Amino acid sequence: MSDAADIPVRVRPGIASLPPYKQGTQAGPDAYKLSSNENPFDPLPGVLQAVQSASAFNRYPDATATRLRERLAARFGVTLDEVHIGAGSVSILAQLVLATSGPGDEVVYAWRSFEAYPWLAVLAGATPVQVPLTADSRHDLDAMADAVTGRTRAILVCSPNNPTGPVVGQDEFDAFIQRVPSDILVILDEAYAEFVTAPGAVDGLTVLGNRTRGGAELPNVVVLRTFSKAFGLAALRVGYAIGHPRILDAARTTAIPLSVTAHAEAAALASLDAEEELLERVRHIGARRDRLAEALRDAGWAVPQAQGNFVWLPAHENTLAIAETFTAAGLIVRPFAGDGIRISVGEEESVDEVLRIAASVVEDLPEAHPGRRLA
Ligand SMILES: *Cc1c(COP(=O)(O)O)cnc(C)c1O
Repeated sequence: MSDAADIPVRVRPGIASLPPYKQGTQAGPDAYKLSSNENPFDPLPGVLQAVQSASAFNRYPDATATRLRERLAARFGVTLDEVHIGAGSVSILAQLVLATSGPGDEVVYAWRSFEAYPWLAVLAGATPVQVPLTADSRHDLDAMADAVTGRTRAILVCSPNNPTGPVVGQDEFDAFIQRVPSDILVILDEAYAEFVTAPGAVDGLTVLGNRTRGGAELPNVVVLRTFSKAFGLAALRVGYAIGHPRILDAARTTAIPLSVTAHAEAAALASLDAEEELLERVRHIGARRDRLAEALRDAGWAVPQAQGNFVWLPAHENTLAIAETFTAAGLIVRPFAGDGIRISVGEEESVDEVLRIAASVVEDLPEAHPGRRLA
């Protein structure tokens, strides 16, 4: 927390009270960076090539990334104006929250979930409403529906949930939507959709398909996806939304113009050209994740369902101390003080290292520690 009194100009009190953004620790040359859910594979040569031959630096990009929208619209069977591109899906999240929610309005989301959610609500001047996860680190959609009031303007649902890992079920999502008034925006944040293997998981495309088939049954749901994680374009900043054109128009209104670069668009298009090859990598990461999660459970950790490209250690009050042990061993992980540690599924060689440290630290936890798996 900072104090408005030491800022030399008048800053909105809500902004002054937020901690300044700090990125996860950057890894040294000998460390594995497992703190930002990045894709460990190097970019494909064809993608690099596409970026290099994208338009010249002295020209502005196409403001609405038309070619990429056309491609995604065809891919998902929607119209061009049902697709919106942003400089990372987090920028579309910000646009949608700004467009729907202001002072006096409420933004509902699960907690713990994506770190950006509380910040986005406060940035808009709205009130964050956090609904605790269940004991097994899942969204409690009933409690989230109960948290809706006359002031609610947006609900954020994250599946798989970052940082804990479980998915929301398609059936429970459908039932949830029935309970939410149709004039409240529901954002389904599927940043890790491509990694999901659990049967019955919510799928934004199914949600949207139902909408189209039923003739605009669910116009209040917007699905967000990104090229940062599965497609490995985190540095280039490109993500997309699919939803009702008029909702996306509102997002476009609040967007900072021209923030999606021609290079990001070119890389996304080239990635879609190479989709099968990239999804093969995603399957490798998914298998590595399953192996890691199983081995961690065998070692005694109560790891919840892991459906993203990361696993969650519910270390609770031991979080910071345990994260230190990982760091000392050259493994940069992401601690969330008091809650737990998120570890990205990185290079194959990092897996044994993670297991070695995780198995040693769990031994030191008291028998009754909630992060320990009951034998
Ligand atoms: C990584 C992530 C995003 C968006 O990432 P961008 O790089 O901005 O596309 C959105 N939501 C969640 C939950 C994420 O983990």
